[in-house]
Amino acid sequence: MKDLFSVDIQFLKGVGPKRAQLYQKLGVDSVGSLLQYYPRSYIDLHDTVPLSAAPFDSPCAVQGRVVRKLPVARLSGGRTLYKVLCTNYEQDFAVTFFNTPYPYGQLVEGEDYIFYGKFGGTFTGRQVGSPLFIPAGQPHDVLPVYPLTKGLTSKEISRSVAVAIDAFLAQLADPLPSWVRTQYDLCHIGFAVQNIHLPQSPQAAQLARRRLIFEELLVLQLGMALLKQRTRRRTDYRLIPPDLAPFTAALPYQLTGAQRRCIGEILTDLQRPQPMSRLLQGDVGSGKTVVAAAGVYAAAQNGAQSALMAPTEILAEQHYQTLNTLLQPLGITVALLTGSTKGAAKKALLADLAAGKIDLLVGTHALISQNVTFSKLALVVTDEQHRFGVKQRGALGEKGQYPHMLVMSATPIPRTLALIIYGDLDISVLDEKPAGRREIETFAVDFGKFRRAVAFAEKQIRAGGQVYVVCPLIEDSGSELKDAATAQQQIQQLLPHRRVGLLHGRMRPKEKEAVMAAFKQKQLDLLVSTTVIEVGVDVPDANLIIVQNAERFGLSALHQLRGRVGRSDRQSYCILISDAQGETAKKRLDAMCRTSDGFALANFDLELRGPGDFFGSAQHGLPKLKIADLLQDRMVLAQTGTVCRQLLDADPQLRQNPLLRAEVGRLFSQVGQQGLN
Ligand code: ADP
Ligand code: MG
Repeated sequence: MKDLFSVDIQFLKGVGPKRAQLYQKLGVDSVGSLLQYYPRSYIDLHDTVPLSAAPFDSPCAVQGRVVRKLPVARLSGGRTLYKVLCTNYEQDFAVTFFNTPYPYGQLVEGEDYIFYGKFGGTFTGRQVGSPLFIPAGQPHDVLPVYPLTKGLTSKEISRSVAVAIDAFLAQLADPLPSWVRTQYDLCHIGFAVQNIHLPQSPQAAQLARRRLIFEELLVLQLGMALLKQRTRRRTDYRLIPPDLAPFTAALPYQLTGAQRRCIGEILTDLQRPQPMSRLLQGDVGSGKTVVAAAGVYAAAQNGAQSALMAPTEILAEQHYQTLNTLLQPLGITVALLTGSTKGAAKKALLADLAAGKIDLLVGTHALISQNVTFSKLALVVTDEQHRFGVKQRGALGEKGQYPHMLVMSATPIPRTLALIIYGDLDISVLDEKPAGRREIETFAVDFGKFRRAVAFAEKQIRAGGQVYVVCPLIEDSGSELKDAATAQQQIQQLLPHRRVGLLHGRMRPKEKEAVMAAFKQKQLDLLVSTTVIEVGVDVPDANLIIVQNAERFGLSALHQLRGRVGRSDRQSYCILISDAQGETAKKRLDAMCRTSDGFALANFDLELRGPGDFFGSAQHGLPKLKIADLLQDRMVLAQTGTVCRQLLDADPQLRQNPLLRAEVGRLFSQVGQQGLN
């Protein structure tokens, strides 16, 4: 479809500059991208129900005859009402359109139609507003439903697509080599494009879908593999494994078996001539930091530097504290660089770094900025990787001569998916929690129990614990949702003798740091916050977390939040407060109460959400897919993985497959990947 991406969408009849702007909002600017704007679902208009069986709250198709077209009525506010009376042979119903004469004009008295829409009204007076309709008895009856933007209807998009298909279908060249199509029984691109948009039958739509998903996943995997090729260089830092005894002796606890195994895997990688690319995956609280610290120790014993990048200042600060406490007694110099490191202090720090006087630099995105120069960067660690994109990961790597890379993530994803999302990183799994941890007890309650939850908090504080209270909003915005500022006042009133802190993302970094430090040092008993504490924050004495409007958070976020407690041998609790009545919300909260296993929750989320965004591009930095879903279509991934390897083995740069290569470039251009072309 190469050329069609340079054909402006305004080339199509009926698409003027105004329409073009609306299409732009959908990410559609060319005929090529229009053809890749796939329907979300289809309506089968022949799947009709009797009016008496039509639900009041969801759309369906009902057949009926137009009895009488009422005169056009002008309403207040300049609106116009077009009303048509129909009968379903046993019961009458009304069809209404506002402001648009076109559909009204199409309906003819005495003719039969199939109407599709939400049949509301009352039991005796059913009414459907702005339905789709076709004359009854027509053969072509499957209508595509497109994801919409305001101002464009599904029907309109469908019409533009039909025009584009008419004009360009013959020109479509197939990016998939014919042997791949034959071997995996995939239809031609022309058939696929036509039948995804205007299916001849449900079966044809299925065939089209399967082929397009296959192609998209193949393109994704090819892209990841090509990116990986670029980084498969030789490192300047083959490290000699150090004696770890001083390191382990200095720890205030025994390493778990899983920690020892993962450290072993990392030290083995560090000796190799190729740079390490390893994902360290471990549920919240499994103790990833100390594993990374062992790597840093190894680098320092070899006289080389390390960098650790965290997604927030709070986390960077915390890592700095932890690692400094751990490593400084072993003669390792640790420094912190964030957006708030400024002036003379920053200058001195950068000079020391360039001179090799700093062994470990901890920081935020600031580490990637231009003026940060290492003298011998051997190991790069990124924490909570899902917050960084593929691109940022690469940028830090370019600060050294192909340093070793360790990526830490608490997002529990099935291995097959991890392989895609993280290219072909090697994976170490921390599947064992430090000894003595107790199961976090989790309860879901309604807002009526808020005072009791606060009383329970008081009890925990009296026994030496600390408490988080999480709200979805920062301050009162007049919505139903709880906000942190109000909650702080409320709780302070209920517990006047306790010290209640407030933390949110709009505070200045220095203020955030100060509040976090105060909480950590137990100068605060209770911390009311937004989800800024979601990732990684470690305060061992915190043993109760109360989440308000818990229905507002996805399972993975709730799991992360709950991971803020249960970080010592103190019994910990999680109270999820919600008045939500929705089925999905209830199921989610229920799952949280039943299990604390991140993998089990991830799997459950997957079932619950279907084609969802658990691994949405915001989290993993992968390009946004147009038709495939990494979770739902994960069976296809195995096939495309095989094809990907076969193609690249024979043709490492895809020079003989320029169409595929162009698709790769297009998919990855959205994440700002350079150098693929
Ligand atoms: P995460 O994997 O969520 O990043 P951390 O590295 O923050 O976990 O560790 C969680 C807590 O567990 C920290 O307070 C840390 O000191 C402690 N910890 C780590 N390893 C062990 C261990 N083997 N035994 C006891 N406590 C440990
Ligand atoms: Mg962590």
